[in-house]
Amino acid sequence: MKVLDCKQSRELEQSAVDSGISYLELMENAGAAAVRFLRKKFSLSGRKVVILCGKGNNGGDGFVAARKLSELGVAVMVVIADGLPHTDLAKTVFSRLKDTSVKILDGAENGERVEAAVSSADFIMDAIYGTGFHGCAPDHMLPLFHAVQNSAAVVVSLDIPSGANCDSGAVDGECINADYTITFSTLKNGHLIYPAKKYCGQVAVAPIGIDANLISSQKSSLELTELSQAQSLMKPRDPLSNKGTYGRLLCICGSEGMAGAAVMSAKAAVRCGAGIVDVALPRTIYPIVASQIVEPVHTLLDYLPDGTMLSDSRSALQKALQKAKVCLIGCGLGCGKETARIVCEIVSDSKVPLIIDADGINVLAENINILKTVRVPVVLTPHPGEMARLMKTTVEDVQAHRFEYARSFAAQYNVILVLKGAGTLIAEPNGMVHLNPTGNAGMAKGGSGDVLAGMLASFIAQGNDPVAAAVGAVYLHGEAGDRCARRFSQYAMLPTDMIEMLPGLFLELER
Ligand code: ADP
Ligand code: ADP
Ligand code: MG
Repeated sequence: MKVLDCKQSRELEQSAVDSGISYLELMENAGAAAVRFLRKKFSLSGRKVVILCGKGNNGGDGFVAARKLSELGVAVMVVIADGLPHTDLAKTVFSRLKDTSVKILDGAENGERVEAAVSSADFIMDAIYGTGFHGCAPDHMLPLFHAVQNSAAVVVSLDIPSGANCDSGAVDGECINADYTITFSTLKNGHLIYPAKKYCGQVAVAPIGIDANLISSQKSSLELTELSQAQSLMKPRDPLSNKGTYGRLLCICGSEGMAGAAVMSAKAAVRCGAGIVDVALPRTIYPIVASQIVEPVHTLLDYLPDGTMLSDSRSALQKALQKAKVCLIGCGLGCGKETARIVCEIVSDSKVPLIIDADGINVLAENINILKTVRVPVVLTPHPGEMARLMKTTVEDVQAHRFEYARSFAAQYNVILVLKGAGTLIAEPNGMVHLNPTGNAGMAKGGSGDVLAGMLASFIAQGNDPVAAAVGAVYLHGEAGDRCARRFSQYAMLPTDMIEMLPGLFLELER
């Protein structure tokens, strides 16, 4: 499914215009499509529609919708929400309201009448700000936003709810909370990315006369992951293959008090098909881990009373790294001084791809420049709290700007960044971002992330491209979570249940 940002959807419209349709026709078609949507969903006879029009082309779409509705005999009021139209297109369609029955109120001069109309409306069409909006809705608009909020009317936003950023899904100030959003030609980034997604309600994509071939050839920078991408990781295993064919994964995970993280990441890795899993862990927790999972081999690490690792263990770890095809570091590793030293050493020395999670990320947050010296593919898998530490900001700020932050971090540090949480984003260094559609809040339990890290590392160990592995693993992890939720409920499902759900899932995908 094509998803565009504001610039890309302008490019698409320009190529449509180059191939013969006019901008005015596109605007007429958009307004007509909005009316068609409303009529299909609702009976409009005897109902009051209020259309809030901004001064740009989003407002223009609203003026067209107003005219079309009045032609159908519907009572329509247009509110000039933020000043008179200022684009040529919007001016043209505004002038076409002249000989219609549409009532026009200037919001700036008729605050109380506008609020009364909004509160008694059956339908409110929000055509204030569209795809070009960025930043905060200005203070003088807030009374109107609040009136919409308090009205019982069905709220339909054109293109994107006013106040939301169509490119990044950011909502920096207040935003119209729509029941429906009608967008044109293609989905836009903001319809899919939190927090904007939350304000869109049900999203409908309406065609406005742009050729399907033009749409499919338009360049895009956001992709919604599809099942087939996850499926592509499940290549048939060569009958003549052996464990060496499927990669040796070194997991430097687990510490006293966090043995479970080592168990879960290793179990998930084995279940996803890696040939050999080597779990490097403190000798003290070895009996616990080995009692829970028997398939891995182990590199046992000994520590001096002051917490530093014995030099024999250090060289054993280096040797294990040299034998590995990929290294996962960080799950349940703890945050001591020695951890920091190990993480920095591994990150600097590794000649194989690295997956860095949890405490590995916490160490990087204090040593961020080390990332700039790395010469191997690196996948970072922060949850929003870890991302906030990496970026020296707050969780709220990360959550309000997930797309921009994931994308800019991946580009700045040349890493694959997996920003976890509802709607996990996978950002490539080249600016491409993948949005994951699977997963649910039943996965919000300690251990779910360890499972993902093991799965992802396992697919890289088997020779998959790291981006493909990250995109596919996140999808499969969420799909396993969704199956667990259906089987056990979001309350009762466990992270380890997700691992046990993988065999059934893979059997279906292999078919
Ligand atoms: P842990 O080491 O167990 O991962 P942290 O203290 O590093 O715990 O981070 C946990 C914090 O990260 C949470 O309290 C929350 O603020 C933030 N966080 C983690 N996951 C999410 C999520 N899915 N959505 C929003 N915030 C999250
Ligand atoms: P831990 O470190 O305890 O194993 P993380 O916070 O690192 O857990 O990872 C949690 C996993 O669960 C991530 O893959 C995240 O995307 C997923 N998850 C958490 N909350 C939600 C949610 N509300 N919706 C979908 N997925 C979620
Ligand atoms: Mg985690």
